[in-house]
Amino acid sequence: MALVNDHFLKLPNNYLFADIAKKVNAFKVMHPKADVISLGIGDVTQPLCHAVIEAMHRAVDELGTSAGFRGYGPEQGYDFLREAILKNDFLPRGIHLDIDEIFINDGAKSDTGNIQELIRWDNSIGVTDPIYPVYIDSNVMIGRAGVQENGHWSNVVYMPCTRENGFVPALPDRRVDVIYLCYPNNPTGTVISKAELRKWVNYALKNDTLIFFDAAYQAYIRDADIPRSIYEIRGARKCAIEFHSYSKTAGFTGVRCGYTIVPKDLTAATLTGERIPLNPLWNRRQSTKFNGTSYVSQRAAEAIYTPDGKQQVGATIDYYMQNAEKIRTTFRKLGFEVFGGENAPYIWMKTPGSSWQFFEELLYGANIVCTPGVGFGPSGEGYVRFTAFGSHEQTEEALYRIEKWSK
Ligand code: PLP
Repeated sequence: MALVNDHFLKLPNNYLFADIAKKVNAFKVMHPKADVISLGIGDVTQPLCHAVIEAMHRAVDELGTSAGFRGYGPEQGYDFLREAILKNDFLPRGIHLDIDEIFINDGAKSDTGNIQELIRWDNSIGVTDPIYPVYIDSNVMIGRAGVQENGHWSNVVYMPCTRENGFVPALPDRRVDVIYLCYPNNPTGTVISKAELRKWVNYALKNDTLIFFDAAYQAYIRDADIPRSIYEIRGARKCAIEFHSYSKTAGFTGVRCGYTIVPKDLTAATLTGERIPLNPLWNRRQSTKFNGTSYVSQRAAEAIYTPDGKQQVGATIDYYMQNAEKIRTTFRKLGFEVFGGENAPYIWMKTPGSSWQFFEELLYGANIVCTPGVGFGPSGEGYVRFTAFGSHEQTEEALYRIEKWSK
């Protein structure tokens, strides 16, 4: 008899976006003529830029020739992309990485979920709350999170991010083995300053804590003083793994490509106190379980770093950030308290009542969908998230309706 991994059975059945879809469908059944606009989606809407499309076409043509055909690629990714990453994402910020510290992935979701395979099941974990759900759910699946009571997992240390602390949590008052940080943050759209991030790196070095730093939204940072990588902080190479994604950077949610940095200085301990470098372990894990990201996707990602690619990708990010600005200013004008949206494509808004109550009022009153903050964790109650990933036309129409509805 095969015994099931019953940790999976602890996962709550209802996933936030499934709940939202159910409620929106119910609304549509009752109001078949209503034109519902979503300001809740986490997916991008604008097409891939020309530089990327041309690179993909070239790559496909190459694969169609005897000389250019490629089968399995290196599990760690092709050097042409890893070199482009080194030169463009890190060297200009004074960060020196070895090419073998970069692992190309098929998007940050896989690696932010898989990375916890490197650590024992009985490590304690700390997460910011609200949170991108993958961090917790992947730990639940392995049995590390314990059991869920009143929305909290028993073995997880929750670090509330609230308007009172500027959405950057206080350092935990006890030792935690592994901490997940995500900045710019999904869902709050807020960022962390260098000084604040330095506190976390110092905490990690002092407490022998491993930080998993999710930088999936770094391309949206406009303020030059905000760190785009944790490795801008001295000492981070000894305590942090960092995840990047091209999904929101360049519209790769369907193309699939990103990368993970596992520095060679980073170690974790055995029960007997021996220090084990994590880079070779991750390399071993990837070589065993991953056969690489497609050649076409990696050539597409490389094209983002060409002068044309940079300009075109930047234009799309600007496009989304114009939406963010409009969403922020409209809600502020209407008297709501809004956060984020200045260095991130998410706007986090305080609601007068509960998250779900506001969600329903907005859906029924203006036919607009937002994401209830409580779906991202207990501290998200009383907030909703808006995203800037819509088209200008839809975003403007949505805001026009919201203004009318609020009057
Ligand atoms: N990390 C965060 C914080 C995200 O919000 C997302 C996607 O929404 C991801 C990672 C996953 O991105 P990818 O499409 O690269 O898997």
